[in-house]
Amino acid sequence: MRAAILSTGDELTTGRTLDTNANYIADQLLGIGYEVVAMMTVGDFPDRIRNAWRTLFEQADIVIGTGGLGPTADDLTTETVAEMLGVPLISDEATVKKVRGFFELMGREMPPNNLKQALFPQGSTILNNDMGTAPGFRFSLEMDDGPRHGVVMPGVPREMKHIMAEEVLPWLRGLRADNREWLSHTFQTFGLSESALDEMVAGAVDESEGRVAFRAAFPQISVRVTVDGPAETLAERLERVAASIRERLGDFCYAEGETTMEAEVGRVLIAAGSTVAVAESCTGGLIGHRLTNVAGSSEYVLGGAVAYSNDMKQSQLGVSADTLERHGAVSTEVAEEMARGARRSAGADYGIATTGIAGPGGGTEEKPVGTVCIALDREGAVYSHRYRLWGNREWVKLLTSQIALDWVRRAVAGEDPTASAVLKK
Ligand code: AMP
Ligand code: MG
Repeated sequence: MRAAILSTGDELTTGRTLDTNANYIADQLLGIGYEVVAMMTVGDFPDRIRNAWRTLFEQADIVIGTGGLGPTADDLTTETVAEMLGVPLISDEATVKKVRGFFELMGREMPPNNLKQALFPQGSTILNNDMGTAPGFRFSLEMDDGPRHGVVMPGVPREMKHIMAEEVLPWLRGLRADNREWLSHTFQTFGLSESALDEMVAGAVDESEGRVAFRAAFPQISVRVTVDGPAETLAERLERVAASIRERLGDFCYAEGETTMEAEVGRVLIAAGSTVAVAESCTGGLIGHRLTNVAGSSEYVLGGAVAYSNDMKQSQLGVSADTLERHGAVSTEVAEEMARGARRSAGADYGIATTGIAGPGGGTEEKPVGTVCIALDREGAVYSHRYRLWGNREWVKLLTSQIALDWVRRAVAGEDPTASAVLKK
């Protein structure tokens, strides 16, 4: 089955909004065995939208579109599709009720153009949207060489993902002629570039056994292995190929499944019944931000300080003037005192600290831009290391936060984080 993805909206073609929908949909389609042969983006113009649908239907059996379903005049997808199919627009009573009800609930007058969201091309199937007022719809048409299916969903990513999961994926699974099923397993890695990862995994899985795919959007570098075939043997076959990937990745894999470093840190802290406090200089609160992005993090994140200036390092974290004077703010000695200060003042089990030069200015010969010191303090032990990182300011901050989070994860597991080959640089 060949699929194509169409993203519609001026905000996309003018570069103001990143097309995350196409990326998400492609990934989901791949996961259930549909090959994506094309992705296209057009602005809110009827002729461009019409051309895009036509072009994509020439190449694919299924076209999945997002955007252009809103109540405003620039949202044209529904009219354009109806015109392309040569059918009238029909108002759906249940949707009218739902849109009215939504405005009543908000205690507001409904602008009449909202009724536009209840119009659908005759003969289409409405795709329920529990996350917003505009439902999606799907339709079919016959071409010379066979049937085609179109799906239209709202552009708002949260709503699109919901409709995709509840309505579109189950339908697409059923649409497949064969009885093959697909099953995937994901490994989250840290410490290898995508190409190094590729080399490491090369040959681990025979093409006839499964397919290996990489996804790299730092800090999320993952390897996914997918097997397909009759449902009965899938789980067993997946475990076999996953085992060989697992063995290759070794210490570079920090978690399995759809998760993140910060969620994994949370998971191990909860399992150990432990807490963490942060002392951040060069990361400026990024570690605290990432840790608290995880729902339920109040169970193990006690707090900490963003201590950028020397004064704050002394007053908030108890770093001594003498240590600052002798070693400078960017030093393992200061990082250790920061980590200890955060841990003690919060009464946490772990204190994690960062101090470094994110650049572009502030570097010296002895401590060039990218010099970052990380320390972790725990009952009875303190670890620290001076890294020489690379890249621009944003990258140095992000990479530092990732290393620091991995330190916490390893420390909770009883490891010495400075001993890991993954983190040695
Ligand atoms: P629409 O359904 O066209 O009214 O889109 C509603 C909003 O969803 C837009 O204003 C964008 O912020 C967002 N959006 C639309 N298409 C995409 C896309 N392909 N990727 C990410 N966000 C999108
Ligand atoms: Mg739009």
